[in-house]
Amino acid sequence: MLEDVSGRIDAVRQQIAEAARGVGRKAADVTLIAVSKTFGAEDIQPVIEAGQRHFGENRVQEALAKWPGLRDTYADLTLHLIGPLQSNKAKEAVGLFDVIHSIDREKIARALAAEMEKQGRRIPCFIQVNTGEEEQKAGVAPGEAGSLVALCRGELGLEIAGLMCIPPVDEEPAIHFAFLAKLAGELGLKGLSMGMSGDYTTAVELGATHVRVGSAIFGVRG
Ligand SMILES: *Cc1c(COP(=O)(O)O)cnc(C)c1O
Repeated sequence: MLEDVSGRIDAVRQQIAEAARGVGRKAADVTLIAVSKTFGAEDIQPVIEAGQRHFGENRVQEALAKWPGLRDTYADLTLHLIGPLQSNKAKEAVGLFDVIHSIDREKIARALAAEMEKQGRRIPCFIQVNTGEEEQKAGVAPGEAGSLVALCRGELGLEIAGLMCIPPVDEEPAIHFAFLAKLAGELGLKGLSMGMSGDYTTAVELGATHVRVGSAIFGVRG
């Protein structure tokens, strides 16, 4: 099991390095987030043992059930919240996570800012942009991203690391990654959280600073 997992992680890291090199970027400028949603602590532990330190979860409740225990054992982990957040979970999210990728509206930005103030924690955040303007999908509309970023950085004093997107499943992801990169540039943001198991090399070629890779590391989710 451990060998399988470390082989898969090595393969992903190698792909990232190759994609980065191909466009004159450094592999070290891309953070690999291993997305461990639906997997338990017993599946995650071998991935940590294989040297992986950044992990992503999409549900606060699920993350609370497994990460505090793992963190007692491994002190140097960075935990990323990559899924949609309700404001009634802001307290727990701020208490547990180190980076939040999914701010997509004023209400949640305000709730997070208030919690960070209360808990004395300043957590870097990404603004999630609904680049495909899909009705059912989380994310701020592209045309409203600028004003949300301005509110977060200005009045709310949040540390905005960059932009995040999840392209529509039936469209060419490169178009969405290029769009997100352009939008981030216009807003003066450096971070780009984009790319999953099926398209992370494309994302790296288009400037991703954070790729969120689940099944290519953990295997298919049950
Ligand atoms: C599940 C998930 C991923 C990882 O997806 P894979 O295709 O398994 O790599 C990435 N980002 C978000 C927001 C997710 O929910």
